[in-house]
Amino acid sequence: MLDGEPRDADGKPLLSNSKGNTPGTDLKAKARAAGGHGARALFVVSQRLADTSAMKYMAPAYTRSRQYVKGGTMTTMEYIPNSYLITPNMAQAIFGKAVMDSMVAAVKGGRPYTSASSGPANLTFKKGLLENKSSNVLGYLEGTDKKDEVLFITAHYDHLGKHDGKIFYGADDDGSGTVAVMEIAEAFAKAKKAGKGPRRSIVFMTVSGEEKGLLGSKFYVENPVYPLANTVADLNIDMIGRIDPEHASDSNYVYVIGDDKLSSDLRPINEAANSRTKLKLDYRYNDPNDPNRFYYRSDHYMFAQFKIPIIFYFNGVHADYHKETDTVDKISFGMLQKRAQLVFYTAWEIANRDERVKVDRNEK
Ligand SMILES: [Zn+2]
Repeated sequence: MLDGEPRDADGKPLLSNSKGNTPGTDLKAKARAAGGHGARALFVVSQRLADTSAMKYMAPAYTRSRQYVKGGTMTTMEYIPNSYLITPNMAQAIFGKAVMDSMVAAVKGGRPYTSASSGPANLTFKKGLLENKSSNVLGYLEGTDKKDEVLFITAHYDHLGKHDGKIFYGADDDGSGTVAVMEIAEAFAKAKKAGKGPRRSIVFMTVSGEEKGLLGSKFYVENPVYPLANTVADLNIDMIGRIDPEHASDSNYVYVIGDDKLSSDLRPINEAANSRTKLKLDYRYNDPNDPNRFYYRSDHYMFAQFKIPIIFYFNGVHADYHKETDTVDKISFGMLQKRAQLVFYTAWEIANRDERVKVDRNEK
């Protein structure tokens, strides 16, 4: 199978009028179709693999394709476990130049490739399994008269590790969210000690494996400790310690993402909470056509998939995003504190109001 889809000289798809990719031509959809037709093994010939500079960018996505969580589901390529990405050169070596040439010619002409050939092929693969273990960390604060209902406050504590001898510190991503969750937990615990504990229970959860594809939160929702049906909302914090270039001149802001997707209650609650913190709430990334797709890119999304209303608090990307230069000296502690306070006030209301946050919307 060739990766991608046939395109004209301007890069426009030949199969549809769509601007980006034609639906159904992504690797996953094609693997599903091939698996549905009984394919036992799949070789995906990727032109981009031949380009070593592209490889650096693509490698994480491709290694992720064979990654799975014990007791969970595979993230991609689950349709044909024997799937391999190979270079055009390797494809030629396996299938012969004539087959590859006519296949490429058919694709370029927008025609289906119909020729079939059969014969033995001997391939030797060295497969290995690298097992890594990691943990989500849950802190439970029991509520009072509504203790069976649970509010989650989350952040991921993993980052990118060490590469080429360089430590990727992840101070903003997501050290900022992790310390915010701990500070908020401390504040609620203090309130409880003073006799003002929340009516609903609160779970403060820092998760692992976010950077590998939301693995910790995925594992949690597939193996929940508290029934998902009783989980009223998730407030997720992923990067709240920096100022992005968009807001260089007015740094008193936070991006609020996903608040309008599943519940009409969350925006008014969050805005009322913000009467104390007075941040500019920037909603631009709620636009479903925004190419960054941030709504899908952090742990709250795993909760949203189970129709649990969420708010994602975020400061946007910056020059140090996913670089070894995301260090603590660049954190704006004043902004980190203010944004964490907004999450706290919002959590306070969700945990204490009479009515559970309702689920009355279903937006992408
Ligand atoms: Zn992050």
